[in-house]
This record gives sequence, C-alpha cells and structure tokens, in this order.
Amino acid sequence: MPTGTSEDQAIEGSLRPVSLTDFTGQTELKSQLSVAIRAARARSEALDHVLFYGPPGLGKTTLAQIAAAEMGARCHVTSAPGLERPRDLAGFLTRLGPKDVLFIDEIHRLTPIAEELLYPAMEDFFLDLTLGKGPTARTRRVPLSRFTLVGATTRAGALSGPLRDRFGLVMRLRFYDSGELAEILARSAGLLRVALTAEAALEIGRRSRGTPRIANRLLRRVRDFAEVDGDGAITETIASRALDRLEIDRLGLDPADRQLLSAVIENHQGGPVGIEALAAELGEDPSTLEDVLEPYLLQAGLMRRTPRGRTATALAYQHLGLGRGSPRS
Ligand code: ADP
Repeated sequence: MPTGTSEDQAIEGSLRPVSLTDFTGQTELKSQLSVAIRAARARSEALDHVLFYGPPGLGKTTLAQIAAAEMGARCHVTSAPGLERPRDLAGFLTRLGPKDVLFIDEIHRLTPIAEELLYPAMEDFFLDLTLGKGPTARTRRVPLSRFTLVGATTRAGALSGPLRDRFGLVMRLRFYDSGELAEILARSAGLLRVALTAEAALEIGRRSRGTPRIANRLLRRVRDFAEVDGDGAITETIASRALDRLEIDRLGLDPADRQLLSAVIENHQGGPVGIEALAAELGEDPSTLEDVLEPYLLQAGLMRRTPRGRTATALAYQHLGLGRGSPRS
C-alpha cells in the first residue's frame, strides 16, 4: 500500500537517493533523464516538463527531487487532491523560482479548472488570474518563472490528452528485479546501520514485489525480528523466517494479494471477472486494486487482463495450492 505511518514516511525520506548515481535501476530512463538534464543545463534553461508513470513506490517522487537537485533548483511537492481550488495551484506556481521543479503527484486527479490554469503556465509561463467577482471581475496576466512541471501518475491512460501532450518527456517506471532491490537494500542497511548479509538482501529483494518502498519497509520489519530474536544482524535464515511471520510468501505476495487471487479462483472459477465486482467482494476501492495490487500480479504472471475481466493463471492456482478447476483464460 502506498501509505504508511508518519514514522514510515520520515524514514522513507531519509533513505531517498539524492543523485542519479545513487538511484539504482531504471537504466534506460535514467540515461534519458540525464541527457535531458545535461542539455538543459548547458543551455541554461529549465528542464522540459516530465511525466513519470508506474505503480506506487517505484521512485517517481525521488526522481523529481533528484532532477531538481541536478538542475541546482528547488523541488516543491504537492499532489492533485490538494489543488482543488484554483488559488492553491496559483499559489504554488507564483512561488516558483527559475528552473524550480513543481512535483504534482496523482496528476490524473487534477480538476478541469486546475488543468486549464496549467496549460498556459506549462506552455508560455504565465497565469491568467481572475480578480473579483461578477460584472466587476477582471483578469490579470501574471508572468511565471520558467519552471519544470514533473507529474506522477499510476496510470498514464487516465490523463487527458491535452495535458499529456504538454509533457516533453514521458517516462515509465518498471518493477525492479531482485538484484536491484538487493542493491537498494544494502544501501538502506548502511544508512540505518543494520548488518545485512548479501544473501539476506537477495531474500528480502525477492519478496518485495519489485518495489523499493516495500523493500525498505520489509527491511525495517525484519530488523525488528533480528533485534528481538538475535543480535540484530540480518542473515538469510532470519530474513526468511521473519518474512514468513509477516505473511509475505515466496513470491512476495501479502495477504491482500492472496485474497484477491483467491477471490478470482474460488468465487469466479478463475474468471473472467470485472474489477468492480472484485472490489465490492473484497471491500476495497477499485482503484486500489487496479493501481496497487494488480500491476504486480500481472507482471508476475499470476493474473491476466482480458476484455471480459481478470483471470487467474495456472501459476496462481499452483502458487495458492488450489485445484486447477476450469479457468477460461
Ligand atoms: P513513488 O513516488 O513512485 O511512489 P518514491 O519516490 O516515494 O516512490 O520512493 C519510495 C521509496 O523507495 C523512497 O524511500 C525511495 O528512497 C525508495 N526508492 C525508490 N526508488 C529507488 C531507487 N531506484 N533506488 C533507491 N531507493 C529507491
């Protein structure tokens, strides 16, 4: 899940890489971003507007902050649900300095009014502010600094065409492999001053759903077990036992993932079943299923998306130890 306690969030902030060299994985994306940053710097211009898309916890916010740092500018962080009133967005825009980054999370949730305000800001760096109300209302054109908008979304498809077209760079973040996650974990363990063996890092990496945020969170939970049950050092055996106790299985699935798969298999004979029906059965929001749970299950080959709904694969039956039944996938 994307949210955590405030302690989780504070620690998460302290583990964020601060430069592109510190940022593990996403090789292709990093090299494109690095070229764009170097070119903008050479021209003394702001970086082009960037859209990052992909599941939560893969590094979108981190990359926005890194881009700002590499441009020698500041990063102002907000999210679309916090920009409901036009004046909220206007407040952010007018405070930006040259080359600053405005990071808007969940940008697919902007209101149409906020989007309309953004278009001239992104294209020509001005804002039309309406002052007063009724017949005496007038508009005033306010010039803005040349800034970079960095948008993040879990689904690029949910963005309106005109907004999407205004981003010069559109970049997709992919799930990380266990080697990359082990590297991230080794770095985090160093920062947290935890002893972590290479095998333990790989074991946690394998069970982190391809997601650095989850890897870092599991590292802290496993550390608790290592401190209570041993001398604090994390070995493969300790990691594996702790993850079992946390109900994270061999493929990194947690109880919520398994519930979703079981619902498809047991209540719908393996599907296809629509996401709305599944959400209602599980008491979840359809967007949580689609944005948080489903992407990894699809990538891991446990679930498939078909025009008629979701189906469970043979691998899912096998993994959950359920009879194959008669899935229609
Ligand atoms: P998103 O904005 O995509 O939800 P974040 O940028 O907030 O994800 O990243 C979540 C956590 O994972 C942060 O603590 C960050 O430090 C860590 N993280 C993400 N990507 C990487 C990476 N490539 N290397 C190291 N740490 C990472």
